[in-house]
Amino acid sequence: MDNSTRLQYLEAMGIDVWVSRKQKPVEESQLIDKTDFSIEEQVANSQLDSIEDSWDLLQKQVSECKKCILSETRGQTVFGKGNVNADWMLIGEAPNKQGEMEGNPFTGQSGYLLTEMIRAMGLQREDVYITNIVKCRPPEDKDPNTNELTSCHGYLLQQIALVNPKIILAVGRIAAHSLLATKQPLAELRGVAHQVNDIPVVVVYHPAYLLRSLLEKRKAWQDLQFAIKIYQEEK
Ligand code: SF4
Repeated sequence: MDNSTRLQYLEAMGIDVWVSRKQKPVEESQLIDKTDFSIEEQVANSQLDSIEDSWDLLQKQVSECKKCILSETRGQTVFGKGNVNADWMLIGEAPNKQGEMEGNPFTGQSGYLLTEMIRAMGLQREDVYITNIVKCRPPEDKDPNTNELTSCHGYLLQQIALVNPKIILAVGRIAAHSLLATKQPLAELRGVAHQVNDIPVVVVYHPAYLLRSLLEKRKAWQDLQFAIKIYQEEK
């Protein structure tokens, strides 16, 4: 995305970009030399290996999954992307057509806007982990139904357990309803620190909705500021 488009998004949302002073680049002296592990480090490293194995196994299970009817129409599964050790985990509803083709969550215009929302919080997209409630694209990009949401939920819970984030953003109504097991309107779910497995969950508007509703963009920024506040309290 070019800088002027970026600035248009930010201006429409009423966002002043700020960068966390706590974010520092990794210094060379902090990089690990894998040839120089102590025994303790090797044990820690073997635990890391098993976590990597868990990710690989989970991704394989998802790619071969036939638990719901979406397996019959999908091009490919969209597992999730980003930093598997992230403090921030963002969860949307389902892949769209472009996302399915690319194998990435949140692509196209709504993906650009989500990236800008992340940058507005002083983070890069690579800093966070992003996934969806369901891993296969519903035909014609319909909302996933209850059976599809329920069938896929276990994979999401495993991803949450593996990332173990400090905060989760439920992006949009479908993600919020499924994650929080509620039917409350989004307006009532905003501005509240919910919990899933003792992890705070903040509900924010879906960028696809924000692209259609210019008036809501400022509320989106309020939601992100609220999420930052909850995150700082949790740290
Ligand atoms: S949506 Fe989830 S449960 Fe359904 S087939 Fe895809 S991976 Fe399996």
